[in-house]
Amino acid sequence: MTDQAAQPRPQSTPLQTAQAQLADAVQILGYDEGLHLMLATPRREMNVAVPLRRDTGEIVLFTGYRVQHNISRGPGKGGLRYSASVDVDEVRALAMWMTWKCAVVDVPYGGAKGGVTIDPPLYTSSELERVTRRYTSEIMPIIGPERDIMAPDIGTNEQTMAWVMDTYSVNLGYTIPAVTTGKPLTVGGSLGRPTATSRGVVHAAEAALGDAGVRLDEVSVAIQGFGKVGAPAARILAEAGARVVAVSDEHGGVHAPGGLDVPALLRHVHAGGHVHEFEGGTPVDNTQLLTLDVDVLIPAAVEGVLDADTAAQVKARWVVEAANGPTTTEGDRVLADRGVVVVPDILANAGGVVVSYFEWVQANQAYWWTEHEIAERLEHRMLASYRSVAAVAHAEGVSMRDAALTIGVRRVAEAHQIRGLYP
Ligand code: GLU
Repeated sequence: MTDQAAQPRPQSTPLQTAQAQLADAVQILGYDEGLHLMLATPRREMNVAVPLRRDTGEIVLFTGYRVQHNISRGPGKGGLRYSASVDVDEVRALAMWMTWKCAVVDVPYGGAKGGVTIDPPLYTSSELERVTRRYTSEIMPIIGPERDIMAPDIGTNEQTMAWVMDTYSVNLGYTIPAVTTGKPLTVGGSLGRPTATSRGVVHAAEAALGDAGVRLDEVSVAIQGFGKVGAPAARILAEAGARVVAVSDEHGGVHAPGGLDVPALLRHVHAGGHVHEFEGGTPVDNTQLLTLDVDVLIPAAVEGVLDADTAAQVKARWVVEAANGPTTTEGDRVLADRGVVVVPDILANAGGVVVSYFEWVQANQAYWWTEHEIAERLEHRMLASYRSVAAVAHAEGVSMRDAALTIGVRRVAEAHQIRGLYP
């Protein structure tokens, strides 16, 4: 006989989670089924074959996607993900989250996402360059500064964005920096973009703590993920006086209840070490990290890590979602029932796309701002967005996730409605 209790409960996929979140917002907003369907369905998708001639001469084939979920408020905007687990449904979910995110922080974009099913560490830099250029040239017809603007995501970085920008520009015959954001500074990147997502996460965390009369220097924090978002977040939090007690990467984590020496950990990782090998703490696995006795939990890695089972063991009072979609629909319900305050991804991690927007504006006007101007404008926009989400949550008696979704979905629906249905 099988032991029912030992069976893992089925958990939503990222696309199911994204669809369930939209359905909640549509219900709160009272929209009809036709509008719901329009909001649920990607506007345009492109699937492309990406053949690569390896350095050895062997030819291998990858699949790439670009999904433009919605372009009613402006061009598509969103990252490009390289990961072995990328599939079209994951890209659809991530594109939908970009739509609501851009609307919540009121940047004039729709939502899009790209992905290639490739495990980057297995390939050389010149192989990744050829993959990037071939993928870019395949999706050329649907991207561009007024159509769809790419940025880094998991597995890609500012070098990838330089290759995308170069491939697009060479094909059109002149330099078009605004086709990507998150580029290197030398080709039209923005000061402050590499740390923007992390800074935004810290602004959101500070605002949420402040609502409960708590300061950053009074809390302990665990961060899952020590990449482009998690590592700068750990540094900024530690500088602000927070006690960062645990961090992890995909291989595992490290825990020091008295607080990690974050600068030493950063040096260890920059020198090529894994987080769990850091000697200033004891090793923990990724599930243990999520359930540590801390005040603030920051999932900053991948989707779906806070499912019902893990959420039931979370001890943090605040979850600030630096990753996209880290909480499943089932996990979200458990956290809400247990009174955990969740600052949702489409608000908490929007700092990246906010500074992407600044980068695009700077490229379009060919005039670049100072780091101070960028930091100030980012903080202002994050705090204003946080305040409007918190106000809706308070007034309507809903979670911050539902409040953020309601604001985002309403802005997109209003753009649809005022533009009208063609023909
Ligand atoms: N990939 C990031 C995100 O998921 C940044 C997107 C962008 O800047 O376009 O928000």
